[in-house]
Amino acid sequence: MKLIFERSRKGVRCATIRPLEVSTYSVEKKYLRKELSLPEVAEVDLARHYTELSRNAFGVDSGFYPLGSCTMKYNPKINEELASLPGFSKVHPRQEVDTVQGSLHLMADLSADLMELTGMDGMTLQPCAGAHGEFTGLLLIAAYHESRKDTKRTKILVPDTAHGTNPASAVMAGFEVVNIPSNAEKGVDLDALRAAVGPDTAALMLTNPTTLGLFEKNIEEISKIVHDAGGLLYYDGANLNAIMGVVRPGDMGFDVIHLNLHKTFSTPHGGGGPGSGPVGCKAMLAEFLPKPSVVKNKKGNYEFSCPKRSIGKVSTFYGNFAVMVKAFAYVRTLGSDGIKEAAEHAVLNANYMKAKLEDIYPTENRYCMHEFVVDIQKLKDQTGVSAKDIAKAMIDKGIHPPTMYFPHIPGVIDESLMIEPTETENKETLDEAIAVLRELYDLAFKDAKYLQEAPHNMAISRPDEVAAARKPIVRFEGEY
Ligand SMILES: *Cc1c(COP(=O)(O)O)cnc(C)c1O
Repeated sequence: MKLIFERSRKGVRCATIRPLEVSTYSVEKKYLRKELSLPEVAEVDLARHYTELSRNAFGVDSGFYPLGSCTMKYNPKINEELASLPGFSKVHPRQEVDTVQGSLHLMADLSADLMELTGMDGMTLQPCAGAHGEFTGLLLIAAYHESRKDTKRTKILVPDTAHGTNPASAVMAGFEVVNIPSNAEKGVDLDALRAAVGPDTAALMLTNPTTLGLFEKNIEEISKIVHDAGGLLYYDGANLNAIMGVVRPGDMGFDVIHLNLHKTFSTPHGGGGPGSGPVGCKAMLAEFLPKPSVVKNKKGNYEFSCPKRSIGKVSTFYGNFAVMVKAFAYVRTLGSDGIKEAAEHAVLNANYMKAKLEDIYPTENRYCMHEFVVDIQKLKDQTGVSAKDIAKAMIDKGIHPPTMYFPHIPGVIDESLMIEPTETENKETLDEAIAVLRELYDLAFKDAKYLQEAPHNMAISRPDEVAAARKPIVRFEGEY
């Protein structure tokens, strides 16, 4: 399609500006631009341009979007409407607290709901992404050890099935990362864990369900081993929609958790935002939480307060408020029964797809949680068709590709597709996707080349993905 700049024609306008009724004001010449090159198009061209652009983007409103680890579920539109109510969307963070009591009330109640869901005693809503939550949680852990003068605890243990952000956050927070290998069941290898813990262990960061979509069975034993060594337990709860309302990380022995409101709690995301990664913690860590937090005073009013030994601010003002409104609407609409049901459906949908595919797409031979990983290695050996080829061919069928090559455990899983159907898809959609995946499998044996050149019906077929990410061309450089 043409760029808006290429549609530009000199002198064409999109609006009729009425003659001025007030006197003009002249800006000093030194502040004036010498030129301002904006595209010149008619209103109809503008509308068509952006509509066409939107058709070239794929979203959860366009079709099935089983992008593992990302929870691209359908979110109720009414929650968007609630977040844009003027009472929420028009408040200013510098307003006096007595003029924003409703917003603070919502923040306090959302915090309480999330504490209840996770089994935690303290909560901050400030972090603006999952990884930001991890960083914040790790700072709490560092502050805790330091407050006890236990300063030798410099290491964070990270199992190899952790999400990639876990080791990155640990390094950002100033820790050293120790990798813990998996056992034959793709859970944490307990012997390796026992050998790794010690007086230098600050914490273990566990992604649960793991990036293989599996529940860590030995959670109590893991919790005991780490706690006995004086370390704390961090729960990566980005994918809470597998367990919410069913089990609580706080009850499993975890001390800190982050959630991704933009995955589980009703904020559509993608392209980098908007996000919110609240962090919950047990009582002994609450005094370190970021400032400010929202509390109810004796008169029943809400106010900001600074936890006693706060690690400080981790975000401008109070975090991503609109995302909090949507999360609150989601939690209160579903209620505790609905939340549990959503988790059960997320797990049921994943297991249904897994069961209908595993005769041809090998996967772990046990129940999965909200997502599952299929291994394409054998298909590739037989036909030359890779995980990427299958993913690209799905685009032609109106399905967003699953996550590719993640997790990647060299020599164990090299050609992976990670499928997360989410709880919002119905059986018909799942059946269609299953049929597509089965058809593509058969096609791999009949016409591998066709798959290797897919997608065939898109404006762009196979861009150089590394160059597209590292050297994006985001500016129009031609003439108009
Ligand atoms: C998505 C995800 C993250 C990171 O969240 P961001 O908001 O993208 O920073 C961390 N851990 C897990 C398990 C995730 O799925």
